[in-house]
Order: sequence, then C-alpha cells, then structure tokens
Amino acid sequence: MKTLESYVLGSWTAGTTAGATLVNPATEEPLATASTAGIDMAAVVHHAREVGGPPLRALGFRERARRLKALSKAIHEHREELLDISTANAGTTRGDAKFDVDGCTGTLAAYAHWGESLEEGDVLADGPGEQLGRTSRFWGQHLLVPKEGVAVHINAFNFPAWNMGEKMACALLAGMPVIEKPGTPTAMLAWRIAQIVVASELFPEGSFQVLAGSAGDLLDHMGAQDCLAFTGSSKTGAKLRGHPNLVRNNVHVNIEADSLNAAVLGADVAVDAETFGLFLENVARDMTQKTGQKCTAVRRIFVPADRVTEVRDELVARLGRIQVGDPASRETNMGPLASEQQLHDVRAGIERFTRDAAVATGGNAPVHDKGYYVAPTLMVANDAEADCFHEFEVFGPCATILPYSGEAAEAVRLVNLGGGGLVASLYSNDRDWTNAVFRGIAPWHGRVWVASDRVAEQTLPPGTVLPASIHGGPGRAGGGAELGGLRGLEPYLQRVALQGFQGWIEKSFPSGA
Ligand code: NAP
Repeated sequence: MKTLESYVLGSWTAGTTAGATLVNPATEEPLATASTAGIDMAAVVHHAREVGGPPLRALGFRERARRLKALSKAIHEHREELLDISTANAGTTRGDAKFDVDGCTGTLAAYAHWGESLEEGDVLADGPGEQLGRTSRFWGQHLLVPKEGVAVHINAFNFPAWNMGEKMACALLAGMPVIEKPGTPTAMLAWRIAQIVVASELFPEGSFQVLAGSAGDLLDHMGAQDCLAFTGSSKTGAKLRGHPNLVRNNVHVNIEADSLNAAVLGADVAVDAETFGLFLENVARDMTQKTGQKCTAVRRIFVPADRVTEVRDELVARLGRIQVGDPASRETNMGPLASEQQLHDVRAGIERFTRDAAVATGGNAPVHDKGYYVAPTLMVANDAEADCFHEFEVFGPCATILPYSGEAAEAVRLVNLGGGGLVASLYSNDRDWTNAVFRGIAPWHGRVWVASDRVAEQTLPPGTVLPASIHGGPGRAGGGAELGGLRGLEPYLQRVALQGFQGWIEKSFPSGA
C-alpha cells in the first residue's frame, strides 16, 4: 500500500499517523494512506509567503505564463499513467478520467495563452486612466498587483486533477504561491500530479506545496494577504466562511459549492427538432458522466406536463443502454461512485426522494456484489414544488423530472427555488420564451446555457466548465466566481487606485494610460 506524502517546506513528508485509507471504489481494495498529522501548518504558510512568494512575483506575468505552458506539457506527458490512477482511485471510466486530466492540462494551457498577452512586469493596468483634478495633471489609474500572501486551495473529491489545475493556473499566473489540498478519498491523482509539478522545478521552491490528507489547523494561520479558494459541499463551505480566523483577518474567501442545476425544456420544442435530441443527450450524459458526481450535472429536469411521459420513456431507454461496471473495461459507460460515504449518501438521497417521486428507472437495488455501484436513477416528481427537489443534492447518477406548465413565468419561479445555481440550461426555439426565462433566472445563476436549432450541432455540453467563462454561482452555489479568462486572476490580485501626477503615472504604467 502506498503512503501519500505531503510536499511541504521543501520535502516530501509523511504524516505521523496512518490517517485515511484510500480505496479502489470498484473493488474496495485499499490502495494508499494519507495523513498530514505532525505537519506544522504555521511553518507551511510561512514557507509559502516568505520563500515562495518573492521569487514567484519577481518572474512577472509573462514568464509565469511561459512556465504554466511548460507545466501543462509536463503533466500531459504522463497522461496515460494519470488516467489509470484516476480509474483505480476514483472509479472513473477512461472517458471520465480524460474529462478531469485533460481539463487540468487544458486549463493550465489556456491561462498560459492568456498570460502571454499580459504586460511584462508585475503590475497590471485595470481599465483606462481618468482625469480627477481641474486639469489632467491630477490623474487616477486603477492597477492590479499580486497579493503578498498564500493561496490555499481546498478541493472536492470529484475532480482531483482539474480542480487543482484550474485554481493553481490562476494563482500562479497572478503571482501567488499555492498550498493545494485535494479531497482525501481520491487524492492519489492530485498527489501524482503534484510529484510532476515538483519534479519539473518550473516554479520556485515554496510556490507550490501540497497536503495529502486533512487540512488540520491550516486555516488558523491565514492572514489578510492570503486567499482561500474552496470547492466542495455547501455545508463545508458555510463552515469555512464562518471560520473565526478567516473572519477576524478578512481573508478573501471564494466558495464553489453545490448546485441543483436545472434543464428546462420549452413547450415549443417538437419531438423531431434537433434541440429535443440534444436535450435528451445532454440530460442522459449529465446523469451518467463521472457517475453523476459533477457539480454542474443536471439534477432538476423541467418538462411541460403534457410531454413528461414521452421524455421519461426516451430517457429510460437511453439510460437502459448504459453499461455500469468495471471502469477499467472499455465496454463500461459508467463506473462506481468514488467512495463508500458517497454510496451511503446517494442511497439515502434516493430513499428520501422516493417519498415525493416515482422511480422511472434505477433505484437502490444493488448493482454488483462488490464496489460502490448505483444504477442511473431517473425519478418523476409527484409535485414539482416539493421541497426536497429544491433543497437536497443527490451527488450521483440521479435526476428528477419536474412537470411544469410550459409558461416562462412558472419556469422562472421553479428554477429559482433552487436558491442559486452554477448553471441552468434552456432548450427552446422560441425567442420570447427564452428571453423571459433568461432574464428571470439570470440573477440566480453564474451561467445560463441556451440551446436552439441554430446552435444545436455546435454546442459544448452545459456540464462542461470552460476556462473562458466564469464558474460559480450565487446563493447555495457558494457565491464565488472562478475562471472567466483573466477575470480568474482577480482573487489573487489587489486592485489599487493610484492617484497622482499624470506624467509620472503614465510613464510608470504606460499601457494604462
Ligand atoms: P466536502 O466534503 O465539502 O469536502 C471538500 C473539501 O473540503 C475536501 O478537501 C475536504 O477535505 C475539505 N474539508 C472538509 N471539512 C473541512 C474543514 N473543516 N476544514 C478544511 N477543509 C475541510 O465536499 P466533497 O464531498 O469533497 O465534494 C462534493 C461536493 O462538492 C458536492 O456537493 C459538489 O456539488 C461540490 N462541488 C462543487 C464544485 C463547484 O465548482 N461548485 C465542484 C466540484 C464539487 P477531506 O476530503 O480531507 O475531508
């Protein structure tokens, strides 16, 4: 069995206790242990700030971008090995493993690309300058400078590679050293990527550290120049947001939490429309890709009441073709859930929902003797307004059809019962309906994805998080925002309004003038 060590204070360090055991979720075989016991978190934070920060900032934006590009390549060279680790420790099929691993290298490469177009040096102009005084001699210019603390990244178990890659791409490009803490149950993949990062020596010592296992008292040592970016459940997110030390020091906290993502079928979409086929394809994909363990997966499927039987039967037929089994087999379309805890939670969620919904396919019957398997489970709500559908995330291959009238106003009201989401997808060729629903749900969402026959053959699925568009959402989704091109650097940069003599400002920061 492997011992996953943390890379801290310049060396790989094992915990002083055995810690958590990581298993293969398809076989339940133990694979590794991970523990951070005995690690001095105060020293880890200090190492990042004092040893990593200054040389990282001295590189400047463009050089950091060049190094991100090289890092993306270095990780990509190990792609096959990384895909196998993902399958072994997270139960992902090859396709699901690619989604995570290529998402990591692709996002690093995207930020390298955007970073190469930034100014040399370590100060970015933010918009044009403004005359402040009677004449233009007294001038104002907004600037962005890297914060002088550390970026702590606490990630969820479901995307060990992408989650680490997308966060560190932004922080390292901005010039902040990082401490990465992957979700423990699937940490093997992030740990192996961390080995590649360290061995590459692309970033100065201290600018990259990784914790394999619990965060311990790490957050107690964060200060006013530091930044916490968290991805995980809304329950943990709420706990961290209220962490006394983070509150006391006004540490910047970005929370990416869970979301009861909606897909809404417009009443106008005919059965033979391309948009209808895309709707079925996307819903079935979202339910089964990564065994439904995707923060952006559709959980609530809004269907006009008179189309429910047709949609249910089509989805049941599609889900019936999904082979659930050994994720290492090329015939398999869907592997197990990632951990025993996940299996327990998903089963409890299905049990809860069946009080208010009928199971159309799937349910809690065992799928295999060993492993954390659950069947793709489609339910049809008895009442679309029942609280459970708008309150509980069942983080597995499960979704519920919620009948509605087809009216835009009702769609808006029901979708917004989710309390704030990462993404909502709309399927319609009716512009007025689409405009009305978009306008009604926009304040409650980080992203709205719209399909019509005009774009049906060109869309990327709504569950895919692209580095060019922001990821995050208000309310229960955490209130955070990541990515979105260079907007993703903002948590790691301080915006400062510089006011003074125009000639000096424009000479010192010429591109801002
Ligand atoms: P989780 O239980 O909330 O854990 C998330 C991370 O927080 C893990 O690394 C966990 O460490 C750590 N953690 C837990 N308690 C902590 C504490 N008191 N102090 C510091 N760190 C702590 O979530 P999960 O089960 O890993 O992930 C699934 C959830 O994440 C789902 O609800 C999903 O919707 C959400 N998610 C959201 C997004 C998004 O971008 N919005 C993306 C992916 C997943 P340990 O593993 O060591 O306990």
